[in-house]
Amino acid sequence: MQNKKENFSEWYNEILETAEMSDKRYPVKGMNVWLPYGLKAMNMIDLLARELSEDHGIEEVRFPVLITRNQLAVEFEHLKGFEGELYWVTKGGYDQLDIDMALRPTSESAMYPMFSLWIRNHADLPKRIFQIVSVYRYETKHTRSFLRVREIHFYEAHTAHESYEDAERQIGDYMKIWEGLNRTLKLPHVINRRPDWDKFPGAVYTIAADAIMPGGRTLQVATMHHYGENFSKTYDIRYSDESGESHYVHQTTYGMSERLLGAVIGIHGDDMGLILPSGIAPVQVVIVPIPSQSADTASYGAEIMRTLRMEGIRCTVDTRDGYTPGWKYNYWEMKGVPVRIEVGEKEVSSQSVTLAVRTIKGRRKTSLKDLTKSVREALAEHDEKLEYNSGRVIGESVRHAEKVEDMKGQFSYFAYWCGNRECSDRIESETEKNCLGVTLSHPSKGKCVVCGRDGDRAMFSRTY
Ligand code: ZN
Repeated sequence: MQNKKENFSEWYNEILETAEMSDKRYPVKGMNVWLPYGLKAMNMIDLLARELSEDHGIEEVRFPVLITRNQLAVEFEHLKGFEGELYWVTKGGYDQLDIDMALRPTSESAMYPMFSLWIRNHADLPKRIFQIVSVYRYETKHTRSFLRVREIHFYEAHTAHESYEDAERQIGDYMKIWEGLNRTLKLPHVINRRPDWDKFPGAVYTIAADAIMPGGRTLQVATMHHYGENFSKTYDIRYSDESGESHYVHQTTYGMSERLLGAVIGIHGDDMGLILPSGIAPVQVVIVPIPSQSADTASYGAEIMRTLRMEGIRCTVDTRDGYTPGWKYNYWEMKGVPVRIEVGEKEVSSQSVTLAVRTIKGRRKTSLKDLTKSVREALAEHDEKLEYNSGRVIGESVRHAEKVEDMKGQFSYFAYWCGNRECSDRIESETEKNCLGVTLSHPSKGKCVVCGRDGDRAMFSRTY
């Protein structure tokens, strides 16, 4: 395995291949095959996103993948931002289509014409839906599995509300969904409000979660947009209030993608391979029986597996022939499985198991009667360790800069910034870092590092 610290990029590519997450040899560039293990982990993330969304009153829908040029053209600004990145379908069989259709790059223009049919009066609001689908971008930059692809596994929530303030509260709900998700994923991240010139076209404002990747670059992993009335005016989405007066709705969206999995892999893994948080690990516990002449360790292991599965723990027993226990230990460590249980003849005779936690040194013994409790504790310790590591990353990889010259290193930087573009442009050109905007998760006030006027703490980094 490559050294992660010295060569993150190659380490990342190698681990995706070795751990069988994704296969990029598919003949369409930037469109990769989801292999079972990677897909299972992504499905676990989706499951969390579904539960959290439903808990907050956002219901799942599924829209068609094709969007007509007319639908897209309604929002001119939208189309202008995307036209060069779209895949177009122009023929059906041998026939030229009457109108070109795009593979959805995101679903505003697919959903909002329907919103204008669905929403009639205030009783129809709030309208809150989400979908988890593939979206398509004709990406011209260098592609990389999970981080930059052309077919993107995407979560998108879209809501409509009576007022600007109601929509603002929805952004607060999105933040809770994000925090809920990250309680499992444990990604070190900073919440930033994008500068006006870098927000989503058509948004009043955009808030993003930027994960801190190894090497100090950031990866945008979640975005929340307040649209105000910008889209409802172009798609004519109106409701009548109690007195029958007509108003445009206020809208929001929330987007996340398979980048979440890329961030989990990139951030938590080590030189032995993947490390998965227990909440999304396809296998939480692997049992490795050590062959013995005097004891049936395989049956013993199978019994333990049944016990744990009854408790809802995702568990498997590795009884493959032709591999030594040591080889299997390495294999499952590489796969990032949080807890390993070893069972040999000693364990059988003493009715116990030996436990090893992926993120903690050493092994521990536990009796069979305490099995479930000990496994749950081990999984919790594993997650706590990831949480601890994640907290350290912010301290180590995000530096506070007092002046522009201090921001030329390989880290991400916090610096006071007045909000003016001339100042951030100067920082960007002198340091080759992007301005991610004012930091909401670590707020503080001070003098702009460029002009000395009053400013807020902002974040600057190289981005993926
Ligand atoms: Zn300034």
